[in-house]
Amino acid sequence: MSTNTEHLDNHSDKNKEKNVATNFIRNIINEDLAQGKNDGQVRTRFPPEPNGYLHVGHAKSICLNFGIARDYQAPCNLRFDDTNPEKESEEFAKAIQEDVQWLGFEWDGEVRNASDYFDDLYGFAEELIEKGLAYVDELAAEKIAEYRGNFNTPGTESPYRNRPTEESLDQFRRMKAGEFSDGQMVLRAKIDMSHPNMLMRDPVLYRIKRMHHIKTGDKWCIYPMYDFTHCISDALEGITHSLCTLEFEVNRPLYDWVLDHLSIPARPRQYEFSRLNLAYTITSKRKLTQLVDENKVDGWDDPRMPTISGMRRRGYTPASIRTFCDAVGISKVNSVTDMTLLEDNVRNDLDSKAERRMAVLDPIKVVITNYPEDKEEMLTGKNHPKFDEMGTRTLPFSREIYIDRADYRESANKKYKRLVKDGEVRLRNAYVIRANDATLNDNGEVETLYCTYDPETLGKNPEGRKVRGVIHWVSAKHAKPAEIRLYDRLFNVANPGAMDNFLEALNPNSLTTITAMVEPSLADAEPETRFQFEREGYFTSDRYQHSSDKLVFNRTVTLRDSWSE
Ligand code: ATP
Ligand code: MG
Repeated sequence: MSTNTEHLDNHSDKNKEKNVATNFIRNIINEDLAQGKNDGQVRTRFPPEPNGYLHVGHAKSICLNFGIARDYQAPCNLRFDDTNPEKESEEFAKAIQEDVQWLGFEWDGEVRNASDYFDDLYGFAEELIEKGLAYVDELAAEKIAEYRGNFNTPGTESPYRNRPTEESLDQFRRMKAGEFSDGQMVLRAKIDMSHPNMLMRDPVLYRIKRMHHIKTGDKWCIYPMYDFTHCISDALEGITHSLCTLEFEVNRPLYDWVLDHLSIPARPRQYEFSRLNLAYTITSKRKLTQLVDENKVDGWDDPRMPTISGMRRRGYTPASIRTFCDAVGISKVNSVTDMTLLEDNVRNDLDSKAERRMAVLDPIKVVITNYPEDKEEMLTGKNHPKFDEMGTRTLPFSREIYIDRADYRESANKKYKRLVKDGEVRLRNAYVIRANDATLNDNGEVETLYCTYDPETLGKNPEGRKVRGVIHWVSAKHAKPAEIRLYDRLFNVANPGAMDNFLEALNPNSLTTITAMVEPSLADAEPETRFQFEREGYFTSDRYQHSSDKLVFNRTVTLRDSWSE
C-alpha cells in the first residue's frame, strides 16, 4: 500500500481536482437528476475482468466512474466481471484492487463479483424461458454460427426455437445438473433472427463449460454470457449509469432487451465513451499478457509497461494519472493520445512534490588541488528551491568530487554554460571552481580533472567576475554508487497494436542500466520515494529492489520532453 504522505497528497490533490471538466455523461446525469430519475440517485461501477493487470486505459474508466462518484457524493461499485473462468485468477483480482486504491479511490461496500449473482442469473434465465423468450438450442455450434446469417443475409431459425417451454425448461435444468457435455447445447434468447443487429439474432445466454471458477469452485457447469450477466448485475446493484467503451454500443439493444423483459424494478442505462489509446504503447490486455508470458518485459509491473502497477513502479503519482485522465476527457470520438500529455502531468505534479538531490550519472573525478587533503565540510542544500518547508539536507564536500562527463569540455563556444578548460563554473550549493588541467585515458576521454576552488564563493558571487553556469556534483569519498535504470519508449512505432506482429516493434533499447554516484542522503530513501535529480530528471527508488545497501532508482521522466522530435 501507499505511504502515509501519499494519502495526504491524494487528499489535497482531490480538492484541486474537484471541478473536472464536464462531459456528455455528466450532462446526462445532471439532466436525469433534474428530472428526478432513479429517485434522485446516482451509482456507477467499475467492472474489470480479473484476467490481467489494469492499464492506463482502465485508469480512464476508473477516473470516470469514481470521479463521478466523488463529485456527486454517490457510491461507485467495484465488480469483477468473472464469467470467463479459464483466464481469471485471484492474483489479478488482488492486483486490481490494489491499483484502484493506489489511484486514490474507494469502492462502495464489499468488492462484488458477477459470480455473486449466479443464482439470481439462473433464476432470471428460467423466467425468460417461462415467458417464451428463451429456449435451449441443441444445434451444433457451427450450425448456430451458420444459421445466424450475416450483415446482408437474415438468419435462419433453429429447429429448436419453437420447442415447448416445458421442454426448454427441463433441458436447461438438466444442463445445470451436469447431464450434458460441454458445448452440447446452449440457452438462447428468442429475439429476432433477421434483426439488423447481429447480436440480437437469438444471442446465447448460457453455455456448458466444466471449469473451476475462482469464486464458485465447481458449483456450476453452466456459465452466463457477458450480455446477460452485465445488465442484470447492474440492475441488482442499483447502478444508474453503466459506462463502457464504444465497442459495446452494439450490445446496448441487448442490454435493454434483457432488462425490459425481466421482473427487475431497477433500470440502469448504458452509455458508451471512447477508449483511451496511447501512442507508442498498447492497451490491449491480450498483448500485454503476451509481453509478460514471453518475458519481453520483467513482469506486469515492469516500469516500461503501461499498466497502473508499472507506472507506479516507474514513479508516476496517482494524482498525475488522474489529472492526465481528466485532460484526456470523455467523448465519443476515437483518438490517439500523445505520451507527452501523460509525461507533462507527471512532471507538473513532481515539480512541486519531489525533493531535489544530486546524482552524477556519468561520473568523472575532479581533484580540487587547493583544497586541503583531509578537510571535509558539511554544506547545506535546500530540498526544494521554492518550498522552504520541505527542509534542507547535509552535503559533504571534500577535495575529490565527481561531476558529469557532459559538464566539462576542453573548449566550447559561449552557449556552453558549464565547465571549460581555464573557465569557471559554480558547483550547486557549494563553491566556484576553475578547470586547470585534465588527464585522459587510453580512449582519449577525460579521466581526472584538476581544478582549483575559490574559498570566498560559498553562497556568494565571486569578486569582480560573473560565473553563470551551475553544475551538480557529489563528494567522491562520501558518494554512494546507485543502479539507475533509464527507460525509453517500449515500442519504436506509434501504433504497434496495428502491426501484424507487434513484438517486432519492441524497442531493443527501452532499458539502459548504469551506475551513478549519488549524494549520501539518498541511502536513507525509503523504497518508492520520488526525487528530482537536479538537471537530470525525476527518479524514484525502486519499490522492490532499492535498499540502503543497494540503491536502485528508476528514471520516472526526464525534465523536459524528449518525445517530440
Ligand atoms: P481489453 O480489451 O484490454 O481486454 P477490457 O475492456 O476487456 O480490456 P475489462 O477488464 O473488461 O478489460 O475492462 C474494465 C473496464 O475498463 C471496462 O468498462 C472497459 O470498457 C474499460 N476499459 C478497458 N480498456 C479501456 C481503454 N483503453 N480506455 C477506456 N476504458 C477502458
Ligand atoms: Mg471486457
